[in-house]
Amino acid sequence: MSLQHNVDAAEIEKFQSIASRWWDRESEFKPLHEINPLRLAYIAQQAGKVDGKKILDIGCGGGILTEGLARQGAVVTGIDMAELSLKVAKLHLHESGLDIDYRLATAEQFATDNPAAFDIVTCLEMLEHVPDPESIITAASHMLKPGGVLVLSTLNRNPKSFALAVLGAEYILRLLPRGTHEYKKFVKPSEMAAVLRANGLQPRDITGISYNPLTKNYSLGRDIDVNYLMTASFDDC
Ligand code: SAH
Repeated sequence: MSLQHNVDAAEIEKFQSIASRWWDRESEFKPLHEINPLRLAYIAQQAGKVDGKKILDIGCGGGILTEGLARQGAVVTGIDMAELSLKVAKLHLHESGLDIDYRLATAEQFATDNPAAFDIVTCLEMLEHVPDPESIITAASHMLKPGGVLVLSTLNRNPKSFALAVLGAEYILRLLPRGTHEYKKFVKPSEMAAVLRANGLQPRDITGISYNPLTKNYSLGRDIDVNYLMTASFDDC
């Protein structure tokens, strides 16, 4: 099987076409900027401290999460398949003064060269953009050290997530461009958990990310119906 089999060229093109705006907080990437402090706090809480840890960020884009992790003292590698996004990510290091190793690679390719290499692997808001999310989770699990922690996030698949993440966010509130998300690619927590278990990982936590359209605020909580984070580590750890 080709190592590129799990890349959707149309999805990559979608991100390439807006890559110049990764660091514009009022752009299509506004929601990612707004949820960033929440997810950084979540990762630090789930993984113990992040400082000094070796982290791989899969589907890093322009580096919104990646830089946040590096700022907390982690040694971070970011991989993505959109070359322009990586260019923007690398350029932004001149502004932030951070040191991050950015690579053009698929998770599957990277896993063959980096088995059991990372303390933490993150893959946020990316699984819903690939043809085969299972293959990403499997690759991610191969790159975790024995005591490592995997943090994933994606969109749940149910009528409420269709109403809020697709109709609400793209058509009514216009938080995202139309066509950003394809409902059939969303992943239910039960499906994610099954893939984790098949890879010897145990889901340890699931936490929802919700948007309140009245206050325009995001928060973490119990509501996992739309957007959620899941943390997993190996059974015997
Ligand atoms: N994880 C970042 C960006 C999420 S956007 C964040 O949460 O802030 C989704 C990212 O996944 C985009 O940068 C896109 O280029 C990347 N992507 C999509 N398919 C990919 C693939 N098969 N391999 C690597 N990256 C991919």
